[in-house]
Amino acid sequence: MKKSDVKLLVEGKRIDRRKPEEMRDVEMEIGVIEKADGSAMVRFGNTIAVAAVYGPRTLHPKYLQEAETGIIRCRYNMAPFSVVDRKSPGPDRRSIELSKVIRLALEPAIFMEEFPRAVIDVYVEIIQADGSTRVTGINAASLALASAGVPMKDLVAACSVGKIEDTLILDLCGIEDNNSEADVAFAYMPVLDEVTLLQMDGRLDTEELETLIKMAKESCLKIHKMQRKAIKGWFG
Ligand code: ADP
Repeated sequence: MKKSDVKLLVEGKRIDRRKPEEMRDVEMEIGVIEKADGSAMVRFGNTIAVAAVYGPRTLHPKYLQEAETGIIRCRYNMAPFSVVDRKSPGPDRRSIELSKVIRLALEPAIFMEEFPRAVIDVYVEIIQADGSTRVTGINAASLALASAGVPMKDLVAACSVGKIEDTLILDLCGIEDNNSEADVAFAYMPVLDEVTLLQMDGRLDTEELETLIKMAKESCLKIHKMQRKAIKGWFG
């Protein structure tokens, strides 16, 4: 069921003139925060995420340390100016959930056991929000981790897929997200063929979900290619 009467598809084209399986314009830049050990900006259309990584560094206080492994801490934050109606600053239930979701999506990619008693802090700041902010944040964080030289099994690539007006689509923008029949956040390590995040909101039948996962994997392969290019360009 649609939540409003917004018409999201006209003659097979979406509200921003994209075809159902078309991604928005993607931009990636590494090294955007000078003081961080690693950082990156990723833009999907009008959604812009900046990620900064600090560490691995010794974790204090000591009682939080793990003797056999390092830990990763994530903070997702949406800037008050990132949306049209000013968002109230500070953490809320949504940002606490998304911080955890981003951490869980990144953790499988990192060789945590290589830095016992240490912590890696990952900050994801959404400076402009127009749908799919968590997946844009995961792409940026993954690049920031790699640019910090954190030992990784693979880069995590992420995208959103969903359903509007009975049509399966890729990379939801804000208005689509808010009026979708279903939306799925997906993160994936293409080299290892390992899914690190699969979150679904709404209703889909099994066949639709399978088609969307296939679509998401194909899109993640393209994103992964762009990430590798950005990393190669950074390290020269
Ligand atoms: P995601 O951004 O990962 O898709 P949500 O589904 O929670 O996560 O949010 C969908 C979209 O709704 C966001 O990308 C953003 O465009 C919009 N949004 C979320 N929170 C707010 C808010 N507090 N004020 C205005 N818009 C918001």
